[in-house]
Amino acid sequence: MIKVAIDPDAGFCFGVEKAIQIAEDSLEKESELYCLGDIVHNELETGRLKKLGLKVIDHQTYSNLKNVTVLIRAHGEPPSTYIHAKENNIQLIEATCPVVLKLQDRVRFAYNYIKHKGQVVIAGKSNHPEVISLKGQTDGNAIIIESAEDISKIDFTKSMEIFSQTTLSKQKFETLTTAIERQAHYEGHDIDLKINRTICGQVANRVPMLNKFCKQHDIIFFVSGKNSSNGKSLFEICQSVNPKTYHINSFEEIDLQWINGVKSIGISGATSTPPWLMKEIASKLREL
Ligand code: SF4
Repeated sequence: MIKVAIDPDAGFCFGVEKAIQIAEDSLEKESELYCLGDIVHNELETGRLKKLGLKVIDHQTYSNLKNVTVLIRAHGEPPSTYIHAKENNIQLIEATCPVVLKLQDRVRFAYNYIKHKGQVVIAGKSNHPEVISLKGQTDGNAIIIESAEDISKIDFTKSMEIFSQTTLSKQKFETLTTAIERQAHYEGHDIDLKINRTICGQVANRVPMLNKFCKQHDIIFFVSGKNSSNGKSLFEICQSVNPKTYHINSFEEIDLQWINGVKSIGISGATSTPPWLMKEIASKLREL
């Protein structure tokens, strides 16, 4: 019989869990509730909330709304979203993760301090909603670094404060900041360079536990939406430890040939993976 185990540390982080709870509670009270962007990067969970009445909108639609209630998801929003709400009688329900809110404050503070003599640099994905919310704290002036090529956007004659997207992999952040430090040293200007390691503890602390979990099983099914950035980086970590790791978002995506001769299956997931989905996949695998 095949042994199937679910990673005890996988699933919603507290920020996402809290945002979903706020959405469910609000849906009981509000006749109409909009959410600015998907509340979580997982199609099945967003589908469940849509059935409860949550209407997901994009920023274009938001810019035309008035007199409605809109939920702000865990990733947070730039100041322009709050200004639009004030001007158009939109009631905002704040579900931004407290860790992200704190990071927004730090980025804003750093920008106000450094703006005349330096720059704020954010390591992360430029189109990720959290990064957009952080860039908004700097009047759009933060320099976003996604890869080593982007380092050329930095002015090495000026001081800088560096932050990271909360869900960036630690390895990627260290690679980027090491390259920035090396370049600053090479150019040799008398500047201040401050690195703020702002990867979320829930993400950073997961990696050693995930490594251990992946080594304990013959194959790993890593469950997450394909557009989840935390999902992608954790999947890559799983695959580097256990090459027999498959990225799936439902039981139906499993090719049964993958489990031929396998004795133990591990199921893990991202901070956006609903626990009910991992349980469902585990119980279907046990039934085989
Ligand atoms: S990963 Fe961390 S910072 Fe991001 S939503 Fe979850 S708890 Fe908050």
